[in-house]
Formats: sequence, C-alpha cells, structure tokens
Amino acid sequence: MVNLRFKVVEEAFKKQAAEVKTPAERPSEYFGKYVFNRHKMYKYLPADVYAKLIDVIDNGTRLDRSIADAVAAGMKQWATENGATHYTHWFQPLTEGTAEKHDAFTEHDGKGGMMENFSGKLLVQQEPDASSFPNGGIRNTFEARGYSAWDPTSPVFIMDDTLCIPTVFISYTGEALDYKAPLLRALHAVNVAATDVCRYFDPEVKGVRSNLGWEQEYFLVDEGLYSARPDLMLTGRTLMGHESAKNQQMDDHYFGTIPDRVQAFMKDLEIRALELGIPCKTRHNEVAPNQFELAPIFEETNLAVDHNMLLMSLMKRIARKHGFRALLHEKPFAGINGSGKHNNWSLSADNGVLLHAPGKSPMDNLRFVVFIVETLMGVYRHNGLLKASIMSATNAHRLGANEAPPAIISSFLGKQLSELLDHIELADKDDLFGLMGKQGLKLDIPEIPELLIDNTDRNRTSPFAFTGNRFEFRAVGSEANCASAMIVLNSAVAEALSDFKRRVDALIEKGEDKTSAIIDIVREDIKACKPIRFDGNGYSDEWVEEAGRRGLDCEKSCPVIFERYLDDASVDMFESLNVMTRKELEARNEVKWDTYTKRIQIEARVMGDLSLNHIIPVATHYQSRLIKNVQGMRSVFDTDKAERLSARNMRLIEEIAERTAKIEQGVAGLVAARKVANRISNEHDKAIAYHDTVASRLEDIRKEIDKLELIVEDNLWTLPKYRELLFIR
Ligand code: ADP
Ligand code: MG
Repeated sequence: MVNLRFKVVEEAFKKQAAEVKTPAERPSEYFGKYVFNRHKMYKYLPADVYAKLIDVIDNGTRLDRSIADAVAAGMKQWATENGATHYTHWFQPLTEGTAEKHDAFTEHDGKGGMMENFSGKLLVQQEPDASSFPNGGIRNTFEARGYSAWDPTSPVFIMDDTLCIPTVFISYTGEALDYKAPLLRALHAVNVAATDVCRYFDPEVKGVRSNLGWEQEYFLVDEGLYSARPDLMLTGRTLMGHESAKNQQMDDHYFGTIPDRVQAFMKDLEIRALELGIPCKTRHNEVAPNQFELAPIFEETNLAVDHNMLLMSLMKRIARKHGFRALLHEKPFAGINGSGKHNNWSLSADNGVLLHAPGKSPMDNLRFVVFIVETLMGVYRHNGLLKASIMSATNAHRLGANEAPPAIISSFLGKQLSELLDHIELADKDDLFGLMGKQGLKLDIPEIPELLIDNTDRNRTSPFAFTGNRFEFRAVGSEANCASAMIVLNSAVAEALSDFKRRVDALIEKGEDKTSAIIDIVREDIKACKPIRFDGNGYSDEWVEEAGRRGLDCEKSCPVIFERYLDDASVDMFESLNVMTRKELEARNEVKWDTYTKRIQIEARVMGDLSLNHIIPVATHYQSRLIKNVQGMRSVFDTDKAERLSARNMRLIEEIAERTAKIEQGVAGLVAARKVANRISNEHDKAIAYHDTVASRLEDIRKEIDKLELIVEDNLWTLPKYRELLFIR
C-alpha cells in the first residue's frame, strides 16, 4: 500500500503552473473595474445626487435619506450591467475575516410575481442576525438587535455575482459590534485633534487624514499536502513537525526567483485585486521558504483596512484555484520565521503636507518635530494597550521570538532624528530661536538631511520604527484585522495631540508667543516620552531588564495583556474621544478572552487526537517491526551475537516505548487541565487558565513527537514533513 503522504507529495511535485489570462487592457484601465468609484458615480447618478454624495464622502456630512433611493438605483444599474444578481452588507465582526449576508436583487412582490428591489433603505441599513456573531454579551445586556449601516467613505464593489456594501455593524443602542465603527470614530478623533495642531502652522488646514500602508506576509502550501495535515486544516498551524534539515539558514529565498506556480498565483491575485481597486505594488519572497509578501500603495486608513480584509479573502480563494492554500496564521511552522503585517502609518493634512515628514523651512521642521514627539507620547502612554491591540493566541507565537518584534513596545528613531530631539531638548532656548525683527522668528532647528528619508540603517528589531516619513508598526500579526491596531494608535495620538494643544493654548493665553509656547511644550514632551525611545537590540535580555526599569509594559501572557483595555487610562482615553465606552470595552474583552480560549481548546483537542490516532499507532507499528526483527535475529544467531547485532533496535524499541508513554501522559494531562479550565465560568479567568495550564503543555508533547518523527521509518510516517510542506513548488 502506498503511504498517502508519498502520494500527495508526488502529486504536488507534478503540478504545473496554471495559465493566467492577462486582461487585454492595461492595469490602469482595469484598476477599479469592479468598484463603484467616483468615475462611475458620476456616470450613473443624477448630477445633484452625485454632488451630495461626494460631499458626504469628502466632508463627512450626513447621508441625506432623500438621495439614498437614487444612489441605490444607480448602483443597481451599474451592478446588474456587470453581472451582479445579489447584494450584501459586508462587515467586519469581532472574529477574524468578514461577514456577509447575501440577498437577491429580486424579491417577491406579494402577488405571486417577482420585482426588482434594491431601495435606498436596503442600501443604507440592514438587520443581520447579530446573535450569531460574537458580541461579548452586549445583546443580552442591552437586549438590542444589531444592524449594519452603509459606510459611504468606502466604495461598494462587486465580488463574483454580488454587490458588496461596506458597513458598520452596531447594536440598536449604538454599541459597536465590529471593528469599523470604532475605527471610524478614532479616525474622526485624530482628524479633529491633528487639524487643530496643524493650524498653528497653517491656519487654512481643514482636515487631516490618517494613512495606512500594510505589508501582508503569508505562506503558500500545496493543497494536497495541506489536506493531509489535520492540524494545519483545523488550527492554521503545524502543531508538530521536526525542522527540515534545510530551511532558511541559506537566506536564499529572500528576493530569490519566485517559482512558476507561485508566479501564476500572484499574477492572478494581483489582477483581481487591482480590479477591486486595491493598489498592489510590490510582491516578493520573504525570509522563510514558501513565504511571500504583498504590499499595496498606502491609502486612507479606513479604506486600507477594508482593502486588507478584502485581499485576505481574495488570497485564500485564488490560492485554491492554483492548488495552494494560503496560510495567514502568524506562526504556521516552528523554527522558521512567522508572518506579520507591518502597518506603515502617517498623518497628512489636506494642504498636501505629510505631517510625519521633515519639511524645507524651520517652521516646517518644528511641525514635523511636534507630530513625531506627540506620536511618541501617545505610544509611550499607551504602550501596554498598543501591545494588547496586536495580541492574539496566534500572534503570541511570533512576538518575543528572535525573529519578530519583542513583546515590549518601543520606538526606534535612528541616529539623526534622535540627535535632533536631543538638540531641541538640551539647547539653550535662546539659541533655539530668537526674534528677528519683522520677519518673525528664526528657528535654529538644524537642517534635516535628505538622507533621513532613505534611512537605510533601519532597526529590524523595533516594533514601532520611524522610517523617514512614517512610522512602521511591525508587531501587527498577519492574520489580524489592522483596524484593531489602528483604533488604538490613532486614538492614542489624538489624545496626545489634544493634550499638547491644551497646554500650548494655556501658555498663549498667559501671553506667551505661539512658537515659544510650542517649543516649551514640545521640549517638555521630548523629556517625558524618553522611555519609549530605544535604538538598541530589542531581542537582548538586557533590554527586557532595562524596559522594566523604564516602566514599559513587559507582560507576555496574551490573556493578561488584554486587561490593558480596561485600565483607567485606556477607558478614559476611549471615552473622552468618543471611540468606545467602558461597556463596549468590557464586552469586546469578553470576546477576546473567549476567542483565545477557543483557539487553545481546538489546538489541544487536535493535539490529543493526532497523538492518539496518528503518532502513537504509527510509532507502535514501527516498534512492532523492530521487535520482530530482534526476535528473528535470535532465531538466526546465537544469543550473544543476536544481542550485539540488535543493540540499536533494542534502544529504539525502548525509546519509542518511553516517548509514546510520555505523549500519552501529556495528552492525559492536557485533557485534565482542560476539564478544570472548562469549569471556570468567568471568561477572563478561563482564558488565563487555558494560557497557564493548557497551552503550556502543547510544546512538551510536541517535543516527543518530533523526536519520534526522526526515528520512525519514513515510509510509515503519515503526516507530510516540514521538508515537503515547505519546499514543494
Ligand atoms: P519596506 O521597505 O518596508 O518594504 P515599502 O517601500 O515597500 O517599504 O513600503 C511599505 C508600505 O509603506 C507601502 O504600502 C507604502 O505605500 C507605505 N508607505 C510609504 N510611505 C508612507 C507614508 N508616508 N505613510 C504611510 N504609508 C506609507
Ligand atoms: Mg516594511
């Protein structure tokens, strides 16, 4: 009988790259083909309706219900012309991924016939059954039903035969049940706070937008091999598997040639993504074998978040078309790099100025310094909360390992910017600026060299690094909804900026000159946020100690880190900015703890099953063969000789017995620990029990299994091995 593993490996090797038809048009022509963008709005909507809708999108004015019908009619016409038969409210529940409820454009008219139906009301508001989505008890507490409401700032698009309408998902009493609602509120808060501060420098500024450019990392695995790994299928990662003799030590995968089958997949994905308006730009290999990255050009944060969610689901579907599975888990394979999703973030004003980039004049540079320093203030004050925003059962495997950001949030600024801040902090104020007659103030802020933009000396170990004209938040996980990190980051910076403005205004009110007041306060904050600045090696043990001394959050346990959401400082910030209430935060934390527990619970079950019905039987089977061999030896040779010749097999027989016994004990311990944890009704305590007593046992069992993999006859081993999973093309 042929081992299933051998069969799937053989088939995977035989697979050829699928042919991908390139559209006849140029990318610039099919970009956004399936998006109801401004161009299409203009074409399909009456002029007055178009003008009102643009006002809603650009200036955040309320959507006038009187135009909703006309907008819906135009959308429907465009959608049906492009083959859509259904529509759905597309939203981002607190689980991973997106949710949708498909309705056909046709509905019964009550008289036995059918009628086309897609009204303004159906566009603007829907009632998906909220009970099937996690809500942390908000429904029970408020006895409220959930509804989804159109977010006109993110354009509708067509996926297959369905018109997808990006929506927020909230309860009838107004609590957010999704990621988008609080994100929009946080973006509003940072817009207001940053605009106020911008006006010190340019009174004409009317708005500030937050920008996000994400870099999505992922692994590809052949679909056949994936199907032969129940752990990958059920948990998204390999719970066992010995390291391959060759993995990433040669560094030959990074920027190496991309295999044909993968090329075809990438090309297909890019075409589909561009058609959906996702501005894909770069694709390349990552450090680990079979690991890749896709990064679009940065966009306004809300849109970028939607596009990332869309891309993740597109990626999974298109991978299957090419006989692959896309793995978005942060750590699918032990011993090699995991996947992250760097969030490149900046603010820009509507006068075209990138606020995190240095400018040409001294005043520009003072503005630059203010935005850098207040960003650091926000990150410093809420470093524990920021960590909570990127923490999950899956990302926990990546953080703190020597390949990804450490589990302590700090910020790398680089030599030049650090020196600039030091100079501003320490210089004599009179040296910094002096009055120069009618021309106003002269600022002695050193010229910022161009080199800063191309800061090559990037510290790869920093979780929050300044990279020339933006910050790069690198701790975000590959599987995560970026909104989680963006809600916290934008809120934290909004709070810091408004706090900054309050103090500057207080000085101005006392009669101090504006620029002088800005310098005073920014100098105060440069001092205050110093503990968050760290340019050294984030992986070193000394840093952990040093960070502790600096008062930075050094907690490593995922469920404990979630508590940061309920700290007074966090609740105060979210409530004062109108982003989330304590009730919402509490409810959302229930969901986080529950999700954590469930993921560990599933891993523990899969580990138990595979141990008992794959690993132990296979190992025992091999052991029986060895026993037979030893017995055979005895019948052929005299006792002494047989003994001598069987020494190795005897050792293996014993080793297998010992290891399988340990695995069995390990599984029993796992089951017992789960039973105890399952009796805990409080979600917080249960998650902590799962972390401390269940998750911690998985590694011990794995160690024994991986050792068995090395000694059991290859032909008997049923699970595809790392060397096969990672090097199949
Ligand atoms: P890396 O060297 O980290 O791979 P890239 O040049 O590929 O960097 O850019 C990564 C992402 O950062 C891209 O999405 C890019 O559009 C985005 N990005 C560039 N400038 C900014 C900015 N000012 N604000 C936000 N994102 C930016
Ligand atoms: Mg990057």
